[in-house]
Amino acid sequence: MNPFHPLSFARSVTRLADLPPALREVAIGGRSNAGKSSLLNALAQRRRLAYVSKTPGRTREINFYRCGEGRFIVDLPGYGYARVPQAMRQTWGELVSAYLRTRASLAGVVLLMDARHPLMPLDWQLLHWLQESGKPVHAVLTKADKLSRQQALRTLAATRQALDREAPGVSLQLFSSLTRQGADELVERLAYWLEIKNAPG
Ligand code: GDP
Repeated sequence: MNPFHPLSFARSVTRLADLPPALREVAIGGRSNAGKSSLLNALAQRRRLAYVSKTPGRTREINFYRCGEGRFIVDLPGYGYARVPQAMRQTWGELVSAYLRTRASLAGVVLLMDARHPLMPLDWQLLHWLQESGKPVHAVLTKADKLSRQQALRTLAATRQALDREAPGVSLQLFSSLTRQGADELVERLAYWLEIKNAPG
């Protein structure tokens, strides 16, 4: 059973002062277009839960989805938009890095990367912030259905090696919102971080 079935939108935040009180939360980040909205919708088993606008003006928002008492899945603003002005990129960096450094209820961070081009420069930047914050990281290679099984395994191994070299301790998996490959593994990781018991059966 999926413990994130009752996932519901709670709040959009652009300033640290507006963060909701929380017991535990997990943040999900990644480049724009990495498949974050699709993953959230797949988790919630709803089609239009996360329809976060992709216009550059919305890239500063941290979106909170409630999944139980005091528990949230946190949608970090996507990065890597070509059209976003420098000043806005800086605001993104300040908000996200401050959130990652200071948020006590943050149990872990899921880093989404398109399996066809993982570990781009901005992914490394986020990974380095995360290492500084000391928060555990779970990397997810999305859109795995776009690769053959062999390509997917090769990418998984190469990414594993690069992470072991530069960011040891980061766990890694393949995922597809389309086929739900890897969904159980991801749900298990989130439930563990959020201390949500998976209902039996
Ligand atoms: P976001 O910008 O990170 O929220 O990315 P979206 O979830 O909007 O996905 C970006 C594009 O990739 C859309 O065209 C999605 O349909 C596509 N996409 C996302 N996840 C998958 C997946 O698992 N498989 C495939 N084939 N396409 C996907």
